[in-house]
Amino acid sequence: MNFHVMTLFPEMIEQGLSTSILGRAKDKGLIDFEAVNIRDYSADEKHHKVDDYTYGGGAGMLMQAQPIYDCYKAIEEKIKKNRNCEDAAKIDAGGKRLRVVYVTPQGAVFNQQMAADFAKEEDLVFLCGHYEGVDERVLEEIVTDYVSIGDYVLTGGELPAMVMIDTISRLVPGVLNNDESAMTESFGNGLLEYPQYSRPEEWMGKRVPAILLSGDHKKVDEWRLEQSIERTKERRPDLYEKWMIENPPKPEKKKRRRKKTAENKEENS
Ligand code: SAM
Repeated sequence: MNFHVMTLFPEMIEQGLSTSILGRAKDKGLIDFEAVNIRDYSADEKHHKVDDYTYGGGAGMLMQAQPIYDCYKAIEEKIKKNRNCEDAAKIDAGGKRLRVVYVTPQGAVFNQQMAADFAKEEDLVFLCGHYEGVDERVLEEIVTDYVSIGDYVLTGGELPAMVMIDTISRLVPGVLNNDESAMTESFGNGLLEYPQYSRPEEWMGKRVPAILLSGDHKKVDEWRLEQSIERTKERRPDLYEKWMIENPPKPEKKKRRRKKTAENKEENS
C-alpha cells in the first residue's frame, strides 16, 4: 500500500514514519510512503509562497489552491504511470476513484472501521493543512474524504495524517508479526481489549489472575471476553451499548455473564 502525503513539512512525515514497525514494513516493501512538499509546486519562483490573506478578512493566512492542485496532479500522474491507467477518475483497476483525504477538524472522526476501509486501497493521498486551513476551491476539486482525529484543533495536518497512516498500516497484511493481534485488539470486535499480564507472576503483591496460568484455553478465552465486556461497559459505555445491541445475550448466557462478572470483580479486588 502506498501513502502519498502533501505537506509543507515533509521531514515531519519522513521522520515520524521511518522507525519501529512501520519502518520495518517499509523496508520489506509492504507499505511505502512519500512526503511531497507542496512548496515545490508554488508558482512564486522567488519566495515559493504557498499562503495568502483570506478574502473577507479574519486572522491568519490560508493555503492557496494552485500549489496544492499542482502537487496533487503530479502525484496522480505518478500513480497513473505506475498503474498504466489513463483515466484519473477510474484510477483503480476496479474503477474506484483515487481517494484523497483532507485531514481536518471539520471531518468525520477517524475510527478503526474507517481505517479498515482505507486499508483496502492501493494508493491513498493525504493533504495536510496549515495556518487557517486551505482554500475551499481546491478541496472541492480533489478531496474525496474529510477526516478528523478528534474535536480539537492542531496547528497542522501532519500529526493527524501520521496517526491515520499508522493505524491503517497495521491493518495491511504482514505489517504486524501476528495478523491475529489486530483482530483481538481494542475495537477489533467492537470491545476494548481485556487486561494483560507478563512475568513475574507476582508484582507489588498483585498476582496474575489464576485462570491465565491454568492452561485451559477455553476458560481463558471466556475470561477475556468477560473482562473485555466489563472494561468496555465501565470506560466506554457508548461502545458497550452498541455491542450489546449487536450481541444480545441468550437467556442462559445472560445469567452466566452476570455470574462471571461478579466472580471477576471478586478475584480482582
Ligand atoms: N481554521 C480551521 C478550522 O477552524 O476548522 C483549523 C485550521 S488548523 C489550525 C490547520 C490544519 O491542521 C488544518 O487545515 C488541518 O489540516 C489540521 N488539523 C487541525 N486539527 C485537526 C484535527 N482535529 N484533525 C485533523 N486535522 C486537523
